[in-house]
Amino acid sequence: MSVRVGKIEFGGADFVVIAGPCAVESEHQILETAQGVASRGAKMLRGGAYKPRTSPYSFQGLGVEGLKLLAKARRATGLPVVTEVMSDTLVELVAEYADMLQIGSRSMGNWTLMDRAAVTGMPILLKRGMTATVEEVVEAANFIRQRGNPNIVLCERGIRTFGTATRNTCDIVAVPLLQKLTGLPVIVDPSHATGVRELIPPVARAAAAIGADGLIVEVHPDPDCARSDGEQSLSLDDFEEMMQDMQPFAHVWTERRSRMCAYA
Ligand code: PEP
Ligand code: MN
Repeated sequence: MSVRVGKIEFGGADFVVIAGPCAVESEHQILETAQGVASRGAKMLRGGAYKPRTSPYSFQGLGVEGLKLLAKARRATGLPVVTEVMSDTLVELVAEYADMLQIGSRSMGNWTLMDRAAVTGMPILLKRGMTATVEEVVEAANFIRQRGNPNIVLCERGIRTFGTATRNTCDIVAVPLLQKLTGLPVIVDPSHATGVRELIPPVARAAAAIGADGLIVEVHPDPDCARSDGEQSLSLDDFEEMMQDMQPFAHVWTERRSRMCAYA
């Protein structure tokens, strides 16, 4: 089944790219990023206003100010916005500003939060828990569906394994598996899956080639100065190159899907 966020459709013919910074840092940063990714083919804007950080002393995001800046970036570019909601008490507030609610990897399994998010009826981007099996992702998706909300896009964002060369291990096989087991669109997050800027374009190509429904990727106008996840953020030039390199792989599927849609 396909999931709509405004005019954008996940699980339709198109390969949908969501791009933006790990965190909203300032008006200038989010507007420059939003305009930059929009003109390079992104269809949605990402950006954290409330950030789940490993250390409580790291930058936690701008909070409601970040939500307001995301809404401003949407007005400037027309890009719908996805942003993370970390706590059940923030669902209503985030829902006022976002077009899609992101349930982060650390929150998959926070049933109170997922219940509150589900009953808004808004589209949900459900990221795979970093230690979650494929079966557990299916259960989490079913939990949301059972609350009357079928508008779920799943996201493979890498899982913890014994490997240390990358931040996580990208379980690319989970993409067709989750599509088959749930019938839901599945996108890939090559930024958190690898943690390494140079590995993002090849993983993006792999995602497109295996038939993922899209990508969510971290982009920053000046990655080396980013307040979070700079090492895994693409510059606008890098993003442009990734989009071009990925095109032929995504094209195979857009062709095939539009034929399937035509017969549907
Ligand atoms: C994010 O996408 O902003 C994020 C924190 O990712 P994850 O929940 O997958 O770690
Ligand atoms: Mn990040």
